[in-house]
Amino acid sequence: MSMRYRRLGTSGLQVSELSLGSWLTFGKQVGDETAEALMKVAYDNGINFFDNAEIYSRGESERVMGRILKRMEWPRDTWIVSSKAFFGSGGKQPTQLGLHRKHVVEACHAALDRLQVDYLDLYFCHRPDPNTPISETVWTMHQLIMQGKVLYWGTSEWSAEEIKEAHAVAGKHHLIAPVMEQPQYNMFHREKVESEFAPLYGTVGLGTTIWSPLASGVLTGKHSLEGDASSRLRMAGLDWLRERELNEARLRTVEELKNIAQSVGLTLPVFAIAWCLRNPHVSTVILGASRTAQLEENLHAVEAQDLLTPAVMAEVQRVIER
Ligand code: NDP
Repeated sequence: MSMRYRRLGTSGLQVSELSLGSWLTFGKQVGDETAEALMKVAYDNGINFFDNAEIYSRGESERVMGRILKRMEWPRDTWIVSSKAFFGSGGKQPTQLGLHRKHVVEACHAALDRLQVDYLDLYFCHRPDPNTPISETVWTMHQLIMQGKVLYWGTSEWSAEEIKEAHAVAGKHHLIAPVMEQPQYNMFHREKVESEFAPLYGTVGLGTTIWSPLASGVLTGKHSLEGDASSRLRMAGLDWLRERELNEARLRTVEELKNIAQSVGLTLPVFAIAWCLRNPHVSTVILGASRTAQLEENLHAVEAQDLLTPAVMAEVQRVIER
């Protein structure tokens, strides 16, 4: 398996086509040994981007990842690490959340500390904040970059209008603009990446680091309506996620997609991830995994994308648009 790399939007930064995220896994579903094994498999196979956020396991995910990065002693110029601010890392007071200057700066300092790094390669605004002017956040991100604490900044689940406004502020004041957005993208969830952001790729040069390529595992084909017993969809407190991602109509579609995947000799998870990679506006697909075997399987998506011919893509389109 040979990893491939893409530019993050119009920036010069090359991210691996597949990356590894830690939501619901590090500091929660999996122990530290598994987390370390996952990062090793990732790094040894050319993955150069590890995704994190202040809210993941309320800071614990960043602590786990920070300890692993320290122990591995991989050269700092061979990997990219991110954090995201907005939801806070546990505290719910108004100063501890959102995208105002105070929280974005304090969350950055806290992430640097937990991840044990001198700078964040990527720093995301995890959601839009209706209570903070976009110009305040743009100035704050610019200043963090000037201070050497952040290299590139971006957004997650912002609207195209909000991203355009951030670019307008940056353009007006000669500030560094956001280079990437982190939207959900998979066969069940396509609107933002395929339609809403379409005008942004050629204009502001948006890069995308897309999340939940398998719809939290539903696109593996392993689930029944109750959710596979050993999976996140059966974890305590995640009923909302199971209800959002799993329903009978989706399971019927999954069966059809499985047949298409089999017809080209691929498993459904590999096929579904490769399908995301076929979109040229995707800079990197962030994988999640609770076992190394899952990650090892999913890595095959890089070469598998070549098997998704226009005819196969059209067949998928027919099934998911029905
Ligand atoms: P996926 O949709 O790919 O779900 C990953 C999960 O699916 C795994 O943890 C595992 O869960 C199951 N799985 C994966 N591969 C296989 C396989 N081959 N066979 C069987 N089961 C498999 O991605 P995530 O939802 O985890 O999202 C990826 C990353 O994106 C996150 O870690 C995070 O970094 C980022 N993210 C960002 C968000 C944002 O708002 N910006 C929101 C959500 C995620 P299990 O074993 O439990 O079934």
